[in-house]
Amino acid sequence: MYFRADMSGQVHVIAHPLVQHKLTLMRSRDTSTSNFRNLLREISMLLAYEVCRDLPTTKIPIETPVAPMMAPVLDGKKIVLVSIMRAGTGILNGMLDILPSARVGHIGLYRDPKTLVAVEYYYKVPENMADRDAIIVDPMLATGNSAVAAVDRLKEAGPRSIKFVCLLTCPEGVKTMQTQHPDVPIYTAAIDRELNSHGYILPGLGDAGDRMYGTR
Ligand code: URA
Repeated sequence: MYFRADMSGQVHVIAHPLVQHKLTLMRSRDTSTSNFRNLLREISMLLAYEVCRDLPTTKIPIETPVAPMMAPVLDGKKIVLVSIMRAGTGILNGMLDILPSARVGHIGLYRDPKTLVAVEYYYKVPENMADRDAIIVDPMLATGNSAVAAVDRLKEAGPRSIKFVCLLTCPEGVKTMQTQHPDVPIYTAAIDRELNSHGYILPGLGDAGDRMYGTR
């Protein structure tokens, strides 16, 4: 089997006060584009901290200025952060701040506005995925269609494991992911009330891409 499966369909809600505080600021319609982008970068560092909690470490010999010691470092091949374009870029940048040597993949997906089905327009991930742990990032897990399409595609490359990180989700998105990919744990700052008929999360924060880039 190509995949180190965690068959629990786990959802990790990151309830840390700093995460919740920043999320509230991001939700507010009064938050400017530049503040929204900065907050997304900051909150993504905090999400990365939680997502990396179970990474294996190994000890290496080093010398401090006063003594030798065996000290822990991350074990194994580099992590691959896989951003679902375009909104995933915001989380990607924050995570790269604390995982600077991670490799990066991109999956370009857009939602057909009528059917809400995910359509792929770009795909590029590093070679040798079999020894790597992949973290897919997208701020909004809404219908779950893009997330499922991204995981489907990434599984073809056969990474050692896959985690999915978002800022916000809703019961519909969680259910879709857990049904289609129960082996992929979800990390999120909140599970909101519902999805509306246009595929937006309520109360949510609006269109994450538009809010990051000021496109509407
Ligand atoms: N994508 C967004 O940007 N916002 C939503 O509420 C749902 C999907």
